[in-house]
Amino acid sequence: MPMSVAFENRLYPRLDEIVAHFGTPFHIYDETGIRETGQQLKTAFAGIPGFREYFAVKALPNPAVLAIMADMGFGFDCSSVAELDLSRRVGALGEDLMFTSNNTTRQEFSSAMAGGGSILNLDDISLIDKLPAMPELICFRYNPGERRTGNAIIGTPVEAKYGVSHDQLVRAYEIARDRGAKRFGLHTMLASNERDCTYMVQTAAMLLEQVERLSSHLNIRFEFINIGGGLGIPYQPGDAPLDLMRMSREITALFKSFADRNGSMPRLFMESGRYMTGPHGVLVTRAINRKEIYRTYVGVDACMSSLMRPGMYNAYHHITVPGKTDRSTQVVDVVGSLCENNDKFAIQRPLPAIAEEDQLVIHDTGAHGHAMGFNYNGKLRPKELLLGSDGTISLIRREERLEDYFATLLFTPDTLALGPDSIHTRDQPAN
Ligand SMILES: *Cc1c(COP(=O)(O)O)cnc(C)c1O
Repeated sequence: MPMSVAFENRLYPRLDEIVAHFGTPFHIYDETGIRETGQQLKTAFAGIPGFREYFAVKALPNPAVLAIMADMGFGFDCSSVAELDLSRRVGALGEDLMFTSNNTTRQEFSSAMAGGGSILNLDDISLIDKLPAMPELICFRYNPGERRTGNAIIGTPVEAKYGVSHDQLVRAYEIARDRGAKRFGLHTMLASNERDCTYMVQTAAMLLEQVERLSSHLNIRFEFINIGGGLGIPYQPGDAPLDLMRMSREITALFKSFADRNGSMPRLFMESGRYMTGPHGVLVTRAINRKEIYRTYVGVDACMSSLMRPGMYNAYHHITVPGKTDRSTQVVDVVGSLCENNDKFAIQRPLPAIAEEDQLVIHDTGAHGHAMGFNYNGKLRPKELLLGSDGTISLIRREERLEDYFATLLFTPDTLALGPDSIHTRDQPAN
């Protein structure tokens, strides 16, 4: 990490062939790496019976990747109807799906409960009244407020829009219980890209403590706690990885002592996105221009439509130039073509001398990469490829084309035609 040496060894020898066949830019994901990380999670938490990862679909919403997750036995964390639909299309059903939405509509709850249902994870006490009916299994998202510090990226819980406050929590479960819920879960999501495993251990401890409090107040039993996603990955070459084994050891110990006190333990769920796929994807792009003004700019054929994180969060993504082994470097900005000065993949970065047509590999784009891309400035999103464990390379999403960009536009905005798609104001009656 960033990109593993093993992934590099699988990809780089074939890069010319892939680029020649598919053209740049593209994201490519490494099935072998994704499966290895999935297996590491399962092994790490094997001491807690019923452990399950619910992959956060928003990180990499592609059915080919979701199918790999399903094959590993993972469920899906969805926050929209589109994500539920996508997950159902790869075979997820009922309790394979966690619906963690916020600011939710009645219609969205209806969709979540239809088609085999899903585990509803309610973001607020008021949302109980928006449910078509109280399901048997219900979960709430807990916001501990000033009881926790949050982390640098997601901010302090007091300022976060998510979750049920500490003082509302008992009442929320009480209402759910009184309306017929029989099975219960408790969820939280407090950190993003957190590589300090202690933070995650504290989150598990906090939820187990709340479970004991709620159980004794309300005489209900909790089937699971869900510690959310937010496990961090090293984006910078010098970053220490999250110590997964220590995290699992300490969380497992918390569960064991919970079981000692209470006779049994809940299941542990998590919903990692970044940790599962982040390091196992790269964006491959090609240098198309070089510009020497006050600084040197290397213009590539990808832009923010492929990867927003640098422009949006000033995030670091490691870049390598395959085949360029020369030690001497030049300090350059690597830029896209958007009319936005933050459309830069790297700022003042020492890189090997890059000529037009050179390939650049932008690391760690397997999560919140393609998925976040936007169409501002009429820029189109790139294709996605999968490097399969059997060595096949498949196109798993084609690139956007102009016809996609134009698909929602109406070129005859004839507001005078009293068609079903037109409305008129009182001041300007149509006649
Ligand atoms: C975004 C999100 C995740 C995934 O976050 P990662 O940092 O990718 O692990 C998990 N759960 C919820 C509710 C989220 O909003």
